Amino acid sequence: MMEVDVAVIGSGPAGLTAAIHADKSGAQKVLLLEREEELGGILKQCIHNGFGLEQFKQDYTGPEYAERLIKELEKTGVECFLNTLVTDLSSDRVITALSPEHGGLEIRAKSIVLAMGCRERTRPSVGIPGTRSAGIFTAGVAQRFVNIDGYLPGKKVVILGSGDIGLIMARRLTLEGARVIGVYEVMSNPGGLKRNIVQCLNDFDIPLYLSHTVTEIKGKERVEGVIVSKVDSNLHPVPGSEKSIECDTLLLSVGLIPENELSKKAGVELSAATKGPVTTETMETSVPGIFTCGNVSTVFDLVDYVAQTGAAAGTYAARYALSHVSRSKQSVDIVAGENVRLLFPQRYGFEDDLVLFIRAAEHVEKPVAIEVAPPGSRINRLYARPNEMLRVKIPKEKLVEVKQPIMVSIREK
Ligand SMILES: Cc1cc2nc3c(=O)[nH]c(=O)nc-3n(C[C@H](O)[C@H](O)[C@H](O)COP(=O)(O)OP(=O)(O)OC[C@H]3O[C@@H](n4cnc5c(N)ncnc54)[C@H](O)[C@@H]3O)c2cc1C
Repeated sequence: MMEVDVAVIGSGPAGLTAAIHADKSGAQKVLLLEREEELGGILKQCIHNGFGLEQFKQDYTGPEYAERLIKELEKTGVECFLNTLVTDLSSDRVITALSPEHGGLEIRAKSIVLAMGCRERTRPSVGIPGTRSAGIFTAGVAQRFVNIDGYLPGKKVVILGSGDIGLIMARRLTLEGARVIGVYEVMSNPGGLKRNIVQCLNDFDIPLYLSHTVTEIKGKERVEGVIVSKVDSNLHPVPGSEKSIECDTLLLSVGLIPENELSKKAGVELSAATKGPVTTETMETSVPGIFTCGNVSTVFDLVDYVAQTGAAAGTYAARYALSHVSRSKQSVDIVAGENVRLLFPQRYGFEDDLVLFIRAAEHVEKPVAIEVAPPGSRINRLYARPNEMLRVKIPKEKLVEVKQPIMVSIREK
């Protein structure tokens, strides 16, 4: 059996950053395992700009951002196994993996970083009735077809869901000569970032229909059209509001789910809200020595946030591997209060500053205060929107005396 200090599973921005930081923090043998033939994760297919504005103060495309991390990785002693699919993970940190080059592998790691990213929700998860015709794609699959494989998935496109990938694909398909008829969103507010609504829809005169959904797909061999309907406040289609739209393609941008099959195999506790591991500020999960970062933990809006969690996971995974320091004996829960839908991390272990990522439950289009109590911190923001993650930092010194759960709330000022 192969033995390593730190094994990182997944080489997107989270895994690359974790591996770099594990090496920088003194881990001798760091192994990065990636099922694809190249490093970089989903960034490889995100050829638009807007990556790394915060972290590098640069406006990179996804591949440029990945390249910068890969160049940094090449200066370290991290070993990479590509084309290597991790198929199993035990709670005592034994990894089972398969690769054409190495065959069946068993790897014992002193610590592990989970960085497997997320996957897209598909048609069955939203349950659209109609035929099983060709021409229905998730937005990410269409992104891969266009940006990596060089295929245009269709010419007359309807997009269901206003998640960021769908918005970006509305612009991308338009630039490639397809006609995007409209983006239909079941909620009364957009799912993606404001900047993507402006730059990808408004700038290209692509209409966004809020409180609408696709209620039927038509077409035998290939999609020939869809029926869209308005929805009421309970998200039920309004009878009589049906409209028939001719199209050859339906793209789904209806949410992302953290990829936690391996986490479950290792017995890691998952959060019902984030669908990712319950984590402390050091990114350690409920299983000692197993750390998590990036979109496998919770779906982040920005790659800068993903990388930030990767840096923490790599640093603390190296520390665990080198000293066998177990998790801090003491920890308190972090709980969602007023107008908070989800929080990451969900526990505080008194090891570091607490960087909290928060998603609001409801839109508040006026100044708000994010209250973190104890210690009683109030952080002001101009608004709170469920589609734009909030980030706040509470210094460690302010939390030393905390004994009870930390409650996070968002209140109008
Ligand atoms: C389809 C899609 C498109 C996206 N497009 C955009 C976009 O245009 N703009 C944007 O800002 N954000 C986009 N995102 C969000 C994006 O995921 C994050 O910004 C960021 O790339 C997430 O980084 P990550 O390292 O957590 O995950 P990823 O980049 O997804 O990396 C995870 C890696 O883990 C590997 N992996 C998973 N399971 C295993 C296993 N069992 N064994 C070995 N390797 C494994 C995967 O192959 C992958 O390389 C997109 C997300 C998706 C799903």
